[in-house]
Amino acid sequence: MKYISTRDTSISYKSAEAMKQGLSKEGGLFVPENIVPFEAGELESLAGKPYRDAAFCVMKKYLTDFTDEELLDCIDSAYNEKRFAKPEITPLVPLNDSAYILELFHGPTCAFKDVALQILPKFLTYSIKKTGEDKTVVILVATSGDTGKAALEGFCDVEGTRIVVFYPDDGVSNMQKLQMVTQSGANVNVGAVKGNFDAAQGGVKKIFTDEEFAKVIAKRGFMLSSANSINWGRLLPQIVYYVYSYARLLSEGRVKTGDKINICVPTGNFGNILAAYYAMKMGVPVNRLICASNENNVLTDFIKTGIYDKNRTFFTTISPSMDILVSSNLERLLFDMSGKDEKLVSSYMKELNTVGRYEVSDSIKSQIADLFCAGFLDDKGTKATIRKVFEENGYMCDTHTGVAVGVYENYVNETGDKTPTVIASTASPYKFSKSVLEAFDMNLLEKDDFELLDMLKEKSGTPIPDALGLLKTKEIRFKDKINKEDMKAFVDAYLK
Ligand SMILES: *Cc1c(COP(=O)(O)O)cnc(C)c1O
Repeated sequence: MKYISTRDTSISYKSAEAMKQGLSKEGGLFVPENIVPFEAGELESLAGKPYRDAAFCVMKKYLTDFTDEELLDCIDSAYNEKRFAKPEITPLVPLNDSAYILELFHGPTCAFKDVALQILPKFLTYSIKKTGEDKTVVILVATSGDTGKAALEGFCDVEGTRIVVFYPDDGVSNMQKLQMVTQSGANVNVGAVKGNFDAAQGGVKKIFTDEEFAKVIAKRGFMLSSANSINWGRLLPQIVYYVYSYARLLSEGRVKTGDKINICVPTGNFGNILAAYYAMKMGVPVNRLICASNENNVLTDFIKTGIYDKNRTFFTTISPSMDILVSSNLERLLFDMSGKDEKLVSSYMKELNTVGRYEVSDSIKSQIADLFCAGFLDDKGTKATIRKVFEENGYMCDTHTGVAVGVYENYVNETGDKTPTVIASTASPYKFSKSVLEAFDMNLLEKDDFELLDMLKEKSGTPIPDALGLLKTKEIRFKDKINKEDMKAFVDAYLK
């Protein structure tokens, strides 16, 4: 399987090279030359099989430059009971007669990014070997919360790698901060950057584009890389859980072979829902893909009108991982729907960069209309949904999942569609305890983070994940607070 760029299809690499590079040099995203369909009976044969089998079946179609042994090594070291709290890895929990919650948050950081970031470091280590690279790869991350911790956990003590995470000192929650500054591992480093997320991200971008610095550290045997969500190695693992959930629905008799399902996804960068689209193209029967947004509803408008317009107010919401105005992975959908038209995709992305707006062709519009639905919920609606779902179904969801469930309910009310629906649940409610408890009008004044965990435990009757509860007892390892201008020096000193 070759990987081509969405902006230049003459660029063509094996998967190892595409994953090592992450982003193509002219700015495009790597995509497999084609989406490989399941063979007859292959999807059905996964019914009743463990997660590992679905992962192997999907991944071996795309990582053709990996041997079976290598691939199984990646899969087994990522998806096991030490790293995921549930043997199913991503359990499917019935909410009512037709909706199923796909819980993607049982990994070490309690957010769905673990599913990809637990395996990406393994993919990268093999990719480095396969491409003959002899340097130690240094992963640089600027994080607004969930990604940094998930990347730290994924790369912790992975041979041949180091990782440096920068977070904005006044831009992440206490809990998120605590998760990062207590990180274990001999190859990790964490710095708080004075300022907001833009300061941290701006600083990281500057280091990445500093050719002089690249040469300096190359002499010492290091190269920089990123664990960004546009890496194919992060997207591929996400296709697996949609395939796995269909196989589960089959084995539980909730659908029969060929029956269609809907998939509803709380969306930010468009990675998770794009993985559902690829699963459909491989052969998972899909009626509708429902794209759920918070008040930053640029995708809702896009799916309804075909016009992507980022010129709008940015809102800070209680579902912060979806506070995004430029959904990078949408580029891959446009590439596919345009029939791999690199020129058209390049022109849309250029317009996005210059005027912040583009309108897609009639052909793309009609393909989107045939498959996608979209809706959004503000914070008030999200909290009302969390409360209603708990009171009616006894299920406690986090704020991001709350957006998805609320958008799904609105969809059902508008359409009457009773197709079985898989709703992606992207974080543990404990990760956002304060906002979740606020949905129940509880008095939270002066409560610290651990008291909030206890309150949520009492309310929901579910256990506090160790990953969060045990933070209380962990030693704080990283206390550096640095100015934006000093980020490069910080990395430099770490690589001495
Ligand atoms: C990253 C994230 C999302 C958004 O996922 P995308 O792939 O960027 O669309 C949703 N919920 C949570 C909790 C996340 O961490």
